[in-house]
Amino acid sequence: MRSVLVLGGTAEARELASTLDARESVRVISSLAGRVARPRLPEGEVRIGGFGGPERLAEWLREERIDDVVDATHPFAERISASAAWAASVTGVPLLRLERPGWTEGPGDAWRWADTLEGAAAVVADLAGRTFLTTGRQGLEAFAPLAGIWFLIRCVDPPEGAMPPRHELILDRGPYTLEGELELFRSRDIEVLVTKDSGGEHTRPKLDAARQVGAAVVIVRRPSRPDAPVANTVAEALAWLERVQPG
Ligand code: NAP
Repeated sequence: MRSVLVLGGTAEARELASTLDARESVRVISSLAGRVARPRLPEGEVRIGGFGGPERLAEWLREERIDDVVDATHPFAERISASAAWAASVTGVPLLRLERPGWTEGPGDAWRWADTLEGAAAVVADLAGRTFLTTGRQGLEAFAPLAGIWFLIRCVDPPEGAMPPRHELILDRGPYTLEGELELFRSRDIEVLVTKDSGGEHTRPKLDAARQVGAAVVIVRRPSRPDAPVANTVAEALAWLERVQPG
């Protein structure tokens, strides 16, 4: 029996875990951070909560006799990816990064790219329009000083910590439709959209809606990643697993 750890928190991680779980020769364990109150659970074994840092993760890999690790965490989950890269290198367990491609601009788009949430907040301060903030509940304090700007904030669970004073909060996890996003943009007179470069189809409609209503897009670049082979799709990840340990 081959044991595969899938570091999750994304749709791709769930899809990979389901496919592997259907194979009799594979034991798949999905790991979730435990940030979301009611996470969508993948099929197969699931463990929830941090490992306690890279050393503890390395110990865990040895104890559970893990043969391969697939880091399918969100493109902006930097710490767990660094931890996985370190633990894989000291244990010699093969590591794959499964990461959907980032979004690309279409004809006529003129997205403003920022390196950080603070950088995005500086662009928003310049644009000074009604802003739809979709960067997640972490890091909203970067926008808290922008007291003169009205925000529509959408995230899965209620944010903690400082937020911009003038805002409406919507709790939702998608996936979203173009029709639904257009209704949101129009009903709130949205002039600026702020997003991370998460990639994928589930949250893409907001970008299409922004183009249709002529809203400016402020997009946060992905952080750099540890050195590891990368698969862009679940099919590519399955092919990598097959190559690393055939059968
Ligand atoms: P992070 O900053 O990289 O992780 C912080 C700590 O949380 C890690 O050091 C680790 O704790 C624990 N952790 C994170 N992912 C884990 C996992 N899959 N399994 C076990 N422990 C995990 O990550 P984050 O940005 O807080 O994101 C947390 C989770 O939410 C990730 O799994 C990610 O896929 C998902 N997510 C993140 C975003 C985002 O924008 N950041 C968006 C959507 C989904 P220990 O050091 O104790 O092991």
